[in-house]
Amino acid sequence: MTDLGGFHDNVARIDLSAGDVDYESIDDEDARHYIGGRGLGVKYVFDNGPDVEPLGEENLLAFMNGPLTGTQAPMSGRIAVVTKSPLTGTVTDSHHGGWSGARLKWAGFDGLLFEGKAEHPVYAVVEDGEVELRDASHIWGYGVHETMDELESEVDGAYGKNLSTMAIGPGAENEVRYACIINEDDRASGRGGTGAVMGSKNLKAVVVKSGTEMPKPADRETFMEGHKAAMQAIQESDVTAPNEGGLSVYGTNVLMNLTEEMDGLPTRNGRFTSTSMEAEEEPDDLNIDSEKVSGENVEENILVDDPTCHSCPVACKKEVEVDVHHKGQELNVRMESYEYEPAWALGPNSMNDDRDMIAVMMDRCNDYGIDSIETGNILAFAMEATEKGYIDDADGIDWGDVEAMTEMIEKIGKREGDLADTLAEGQERAARRSTPTTAAST
Ligand code: SF4
Repeated sequence: MTDLGGFHDNVARIDLSAGDVDYESIDDEDARHYIGGRGLGVKYVFDNGPDVEPLGEENLLAFMNGPLTGTQAPMSGRIAVVTKSPLTGTVTDSHHGGWSGARLKWAGFDGLLFEGKAEHPVYAVVEDGEVELRDASHIWGYGVHETMDELESEVDGAYGKNLSTMAIGPGAENEVRYACIINEDDRASGRGGTGAVMGSKNLKAVVVKSGTEMPKPADRETFMEGHKAAMQAIQESDVTAPNEGGLSVYGTNVLMNLTEEMDGLPTRNGRFTSTSMEAEEEPDDLNIDSEKVSGENVEENILVDDPTCHSCPVACKKEVEVDVHHKGQELNVRMESYEYEPAWALGPNSMNDDRDMIAVMMDRCNDYGIDSIETGNILAFAMEATEKGYIDDADGIDWGDVEAMTEMIEKIGKREGDLADTLAEGQERAARRSTPTTAAST
């Protein structure tokens, strides 16, 4: 056990196969040597055995907090999800913001360890130092947004007040190798296929209800000195100063114009390093302008709110609202995280500068529960494969075709059709499956 400040010394180990929950302490040496949620999570996953099959029931899925999570420390709302990745075959840690990490701490837990596989779909409710498993058969197949709505009404609580839900969508249920876990509608533990692992365990969601178990620092005076210094650094930085710094005003997408100027913006599936270089070397009607999808452009035209995570004065989340005409329908989409990397992957890397359709595609990825960065990359890969004749024109996707991209996102989430099923395997496996068509070899 550990009596280090910041920890509750309480981790729930949930055996989904047996339906049992055990509560265990944290080894003091581990708490000292493996720093934070990522460190401890990696230790648990490594101890579980490095040779396990990522989508097998023996894999361990850890949601881990560090000692600062849920305290007043700035930016301390993030939680690490650690497991063996079905995408890379090695350990992955993927972190999301919002409030679920802090709420897990306030509910009395440093972490949750899921092992085994439930006989039928279940969701976990975490409240007052206890974890309960409930039947989720009725919501299996639901998109993430609908899942969140349903669980808010089933668990006595309210989002934005005392409840957080971390859920998977159809992409994870279908074990898309880059399926993610979505927290609070739009925050993703996106990388490495954490959602696919959750889906392979028949675990649809984890609902966390806030309690009053506030973590206590071991030395309050020193903690407050550190807190003051951190707040001062945030306030004085050109990047993070609240309402003034680039990250605070424009979000992570402040990087779009910067990387374009620095020739560090991979474009056309990484063949060029800026949209201007691409236009210069291959002048054609595909050329695009990355400024149209930049943080500055978003802020001026479609920004509606600046939400934040627990204890963060930066508020880098950029909530946008768009009205688009898509597939003969008028769509209104409001979503919370117009981030740089998905905007780049679904944008310039795919030869697309349709700002509003990028928001639609990000939201579609979140609802299907597939990583919007990896999805953008695999779509760009499919576009280049189409151009080079590795995919038949009839099945392929043309550069920047937002209608086809949006449709393919849904097909990947459902693994519908041969191409989507191949793309759902991730770039490396998809490349191994591909063979040039006659068009390419002539
Ligand atoms: S609002 Fe942005 S900067 Fe602040 S903790 Fe959340 S992700 Fe980090």
